[in-house]
Amino acid sequence: MTHELMYCLYCQEKLQGRRDKKFCNLYCKSAYHNKNEDSQEAFIKDINKQLRCNRSALRKACPLGKATVRKDFLSKLGMDFKYHTHTWKSASNIYKFCYDYGYAQVIDQQKVLIIQEQNYMKE
Ligand SMILES: [Zn+2]
Repeated sequence: MTHELMYCLYCQEKLQGRRDKKFCNLYCKSAYHNKNEDSQEAFIKDINKQLRCNRSALRKACPLGKATVRKDFLSKLGMDFKYHTHTWKSASNIYKFCYDYGYAQVIDQQKVLIIQEQNYMKE
């Protein structure tokens, strides 16, 4: 009987025995899953951190509830435009929100209009 060589997903040791085996033993199995959960947790934490950072950049750039600012100014404050928590559509714009601060692209592509969330937007 021939079978391909398989390696433990956790410690990379050669596996013997059943072809569908993925780990040498239960220790490797649970270590592998724990490690994966940690990295998922770290991934979520990183995104949460960035969202918080985005909110604080928007807040700093918009102290009076509404402002038009250059995107690179927000980037300098730590904003990453990839992440937002939700969107809100006005008659003319789609705003991307980071918690209670949102922004929309304006005609000048280099700039965004920042607003603070109002109660009527939550409905
Ligand atoms: Zn192993």
